[in-house]
Amino acid sequence: MSASDPGRLDRVIAEARRAAEKRDQGYREQALKIYPWVCGRCARAFTRANVRELTVHHRDHNHDNNPPDGSNWELLCLYCHDNEHQRLLEAAGGGSSPAIGRDVATHAPFADLKERLAKKPPAK
Ligand SMILES: [Zn+2]
Ligand SMILES: [Zn+2]
Repeated sequence: MSASDPGRLDRVIAEARRAAEKRDQGYREQALKIYPWVCGRCARAFTRANVRELTVHHRDHNHDNNPPDGSNWELLCLYCHDNEHQRLLEAAGGGSSPAIGRDVATHAPFADLKERLAKKPPAK
C-alpha cells in the first residue's frame, strides 16, 4: 500500500537533530561539571531548577573547539550570552582591527572626534 514513507525523512531529520543536540549536551554537561553554576558576567547563581537558563559560551566562538579542560568555555546566563554576542558583532562591524579578546575601551578611535566636530565649519 504505502510505497513511499513520508515519515522517513522526518525520522532522518529528527535523528540528525538529536545527534547535534547530543554533541551540544556533551560539552554543556562537561562545562557544568567543571565550572560552578554562576554566570561569568552578572554572577547570577543557578540551581538545578533553572540551570537550563545557563548556557555555554565558546570564547573563540568556534563551537567545534571543545577542549576537555574547558578552556574554551564560559558559562553565561541567557541574557549575558546574548549581550556578549551582540557586543562582539558591534565591535566587529565598527572597526577594521579585530577586537575579539581585547578590551575595546583601551583603544578609542574616536578620541579626537569631539575636537574635529568642534573645528568643523558650520554647514553651508
Ligand atoms: Zn548573566
Ligand atoms: Zn556564545
